[in-house]
Amino acid sequence: MFDRIKQTVSMADILDHYDLKPSRSGHIVCPFHPDTDPSLSIFGRQRRWHCFGCGRGGTVLDFVMHMEGVSLTEAAGLIEGWFNIATPSPQSREERVKQGIARLEKNRNRRRRANDELRLLNMIKTINRYNKILSTATEWTPELEEACANIAQVEYEADCLEEKLYG
Ligand SMILES: [Zn+2]
Repeated sequence: MFDRIKQTVSMADILDHYDLKPSRSGHIVCPFHPDTDPSLSIFGRQRRWHCFGCGRGGTVLDFVMHMEGVSLTEAAGLIEGWFNIATPSPQSREERVKQGIARLEKNRNRRRRANDELRLLNMIKTINRYNKILSTATEWTPELEEACANIAQVEYEADCLEEKLYG
């Protein structure tokens, strides 16, 4: 929650919210101590601030904590409200993970199906080869023996797989 805020909301956003205008050098008149010369500096790509007058500093969260006199969590809540960046609820996080898993599952099933289709294709090729041997054989060869021994089994397996794939 805090990291999200620190990543999404810059000091420029916060200063804008309080209507504080930084000078060209990125300094503002510090609201936390009597300050005449702008001594609060914004740095770190608008992510951090430090006041050279009173020594306060930190992130957007610290700034709002000091401004509002609230706790870290309260400051975070305020910033989320101002900039409409509510942390995802546990339910929506759970939902997102579930969707991710479902997507993986779908991919896995698609891969499995592609494997099955490849297996079926190979079986059909084998059956065609066996059929050719059986229909053209003129003498007893090892190929013919193999075809006789296996064709029924391969046909049965191909039928089962085809049934599973295409119902
Ligand atoms: Zn100061």
